[in-house]
Amino acid sequence: MAGPGTSGAAVASGIPNDCLFCRIVAGEIPSQAVASTPRTFAFRDIAPTMPSHVLVVPRDHIDSAATVTAEHAEVLAELFTTAQQVAELEGLTGRGYRLVLNVGDDALNSVGHLHLHVLGGRRMEWPPG
Ligand code: AMP
Repeated sequence: MAGPGTSGAAVASGIPNDCLFCRIVAGEIPSQAVASTPRTFAFRDIAPTMPSHVLVVPRDHIDSAATVTAEHAEVLAELFTTAQQVAELEGLTGRGYRLVLNVGDDALNSVGHLHLHVLGGRRMEWPPG
């Protein structure tokens, strides 16, 4: 599997260098990689809420699902195919899993870089809390 990303890429593209997930993608902050593709990177959540809890992020900064436009179509497709790959690697494909995009305060969104939570490994409830 490829490493986190090209060091300095986030800064070179004009992204604020205080973005936590840009720094993880750039390899400036360590992470536990799960999958890596040209446009996305997947790593384990530092505070897992499920037996499997992986975050899939675009390498290029996008603030959140609320700022996605049609121009992001390709990277969004890759975000989901990477999530499928993560589910396969985590042994979740057959049993099911949940994909979560938190947006804004009420959803407790805490990191301002688009990230897809891949959650699984136990039976869940609906609706979430
Ligand atoms: P959200 O609440 O949707 O913004 O999710 C942000 C997620 O990022 C949380 O589940 C955090 O546990 C996770 N997180 C924060 N810092 C790190 C980090 N350094 N490495 C991996 N995951 C992190």
